[in-house]
Amino acid sequence: MRFIDKVRIILNENPFYSNFKINRLRPPGAVEEREFMRLCIRCARCIEVCPYRSLHRAGAADGAAVGTPYIYAEERGCYMCMLCTQVCPTGALDKNATAMQQMSVGRAKIDETTCYDYLYAKALAEGVGGGTELYCNTCYNSCPLQAKAIYLKNMEVPVITEECTGCGVCTERCPTEPRSINIIPTQMGGNFERETKELPIFDADFNTDNTVKEWQ
Ligand code: SF4
Ligand code: SF4
Ligand code: SF4
Repeated sequence: MRFIDKVRIILNENPFYSNFKINRLRPPGAVEEREFMRLCIRCARCIEVCPYRSLHRAGAADGAAVGTPYIYAEERGCYMCMLCTQVCPTGALDKNATAMQQMSVGRAKIDETTCYDYLYAKALAEGVGGGTELYCNTCYNSCPLQAKAIYLKNMEVPVITEECTGCGVCTERCPTEPRSINIIPTQMGGNFERETKELPIFDADFNTDNTVKEWQ
């Protein structure tokens, strides 16, 4: 048996929950993290096939997760072509995940204290604006599920809904530094439930069936 295969077996027999890392996500279709760690043979086929260069290989600092694929949304979000799910030879990425709505690798969260739109709306409401506030909407305009995963409340500020897949395109493009919209990952050992909270059903105009939920 090759040395590299022995290392893989040792790593895979010691499933590892990596530390919660904001904006760091498993590829779409990734199965539950412990199972993912057991199944992923670190062949990098998903990384190689990604036409957007969205996938990275975890490094030595990632402990037993070394060699496994992840997305770093601040550099490049996932454009949900779903090619990576089709080349994974072991089922670590579910081949049945072929539509962007099935992705759900995380969910976006907006920092209302730094987002340009929220600051603009606040200045407008308080009448204290110096005329230099920016109106942005970049996250809304770049979202592949525009008006579903994210909508503009009162045509003014972006709000995330339960349909957000966590693709991270909004994070990649947000112009503030640090980013005002970040992704809470469902995988990578993050405590998704703790980091997120659900709000009641909202009733925005586009939401005619009244089933979409805000969550932040
Ligand atoms: S779905 Fe497409 S863009 Fe996203 S990580 Fe997979 S191959 Fe890359
Ligand atoms: S892209 Fe960033 S700054 Fe612009 S509206 Fe969205 S969260 Fe706010
Ligand atoms: S709000 Fe849209 S762009 Fe941002 S993570 Fe969710 S689905 Fe992707």
